[in-house]
Amino acid sequence: MNPSDTIVACATPAGYSSIAVIRVSGEQAISLLQEIFRTAESTTELQAQHVYYGSVVDPETGETIDAVLATAFRRPHSYTGEDVVELSCHGNPLIVDRIVRTLIELGARTARRGEFTKRALLNGKIDLLQAEAVLDTVYATCEQARKLALLQYEGKLSEMIYELRSKIVDILFLVEAEIDFPDEEDVLYDQVEFSAKLEAIITEIDDLLRGASTGLKIKEGYRILILGRTNVGKSTLFNRLLGHDRAIVHEQPGTTRDFLEESAQIGGIYVRLFDTAGIFGKATGPDAIAQQRTKSLIEDADLILLMFDGSESMNEEDVLLYDSVKYKPKLLLVNKIDLNLKLADERVLSDSIKISAKTGKNIASLLDRVKCILLPNELKDQVLITRHRHIDILNRARKYLIDAKNAPTIETVAYELHSALNEIGELTGKVFRKEIIDRIFEEFCIGK
Ligand code: GDP
Repeated sequence: MNPSDTIVACATPAGYSSIAVIRVSGEQAISLLQEIFRTAESTTELQAQHVYYGSVVDPETGETIDAVLATAFRRPHSYTGEDVVELSCHGNPLIVDRIVRTLIELGARTARRGEFTKRALLNGKIDLLQAEAVLDTVYATCEQARKLALLQYEGKLSEMIYELRSKIVDILFLVEAEIDFPDEEDVLYDQVEFSAKLEAIITEIDDLLRGASTGLKIKEGYRILILGRTNVGKSTLFNRLLGHDRAIVHEQPGTTRDFLEESAQIGGIYVRLFDTAGIFGKATGPDAIAQQRTKSLIEDADLILLMFDGSESMNEEDVLLYDSVKYKPKLLLVNKIDLNLKLADERVLSDSIKISAKTGKNIASLLDRVKCILLPNELKDQVLITRHRHIDILNRARKYLIDAKNAPTIETVAYELHSALNEIGELTGKVFRKEIIDRIFEEFCIGK
């Protein structure tokens, strides 16, 4: 990647749309615009951050390609920190390709995946945590994930990490002073104070790591399993929660032979919903395989919706299922309350939500309960970690800090603290590891 190249790409999805946005960034961005853009005003004096209406022309023939809106941003006041031009043209691939090709013929080159954001990183407009947040914003699957990504993009997580870093630097300063001037009268380094300070930093890291499991779930989706014996109404509930008929519903038992998985949003939370085969107890052949799959789904579930048919008495299979998820996070549901209630089991009756998957009765209360269980505390400005990369780095930094606390010599303390700082630096990109950065930007789309 040559930072002096001027890059171009369409920032909107390929295909037909009312508008498409073409982005250009680099030293030549504005002069290229001047070559292809005609407007009522002179293009030699285009003001930055002003939107101009005009047309893009073929510079060789003078032929008009499209009517567009053009905006120029001058460095460093742009997304990438370089001169940037954005052209909004009509969203036809023919038009987009023609404009991009014209710009390439004039000297620009096609941008690589995430190259605009990578330039923003390299030019110090954002750090690596914020660059990752750009990606998370584009791909956020629910409201909560969007909120988290925005906080991270605004630099809230970076602030916490920089603070953590500066606390370690402060300690290291004292440690190195002790190494350099061991006989100094004014003793700056105090072992007890040192341990307490390190302990406080480790606690902060622990808090971040604790929140990470919620952060990951918000991003990757909570796994909700609908469980119950055959014909209790699992597929009907599955379809109702999805808002469309995905699973086959039939009075004939055993319609769902294997599990189905779909994504949905419940109260702004991204969930992965599983409709399982309603077979429990003795099974052979495909049923035995389906049963095994249901068992592993139970293991991994964040929440189980265990359904009973309210219009029938509990049977052996119901009891077996009830016992198999005794220690799992679950909600008991008594379904078919639009029919006469025959279910009499007190354990189930006293502790369940009574619903009708068919008519929709009490589904809203069920959704409220699910939301409360998955995310008991509404996320306000809480910063959460949402990536395995961050978790791994923090775990490594934590280990170095613990080793620093228990180090036999002051020189080893300094070494461990340096190693911890190195790790923390990788989080924000202050410590630059090319292969990590390249891997992160490979996830981006072209034009971002
Ligand atoms: P599954 O085998 O547990 O997935 O059950 P299904 O969703 O396939 O439903 C079995 C039968 O029960 C179908 O005939 C459904 O229409 C019916 N059913 C499901 N939920 C309700 C309900 O709330 N009330 C009534 N009356 N029937 C229901």
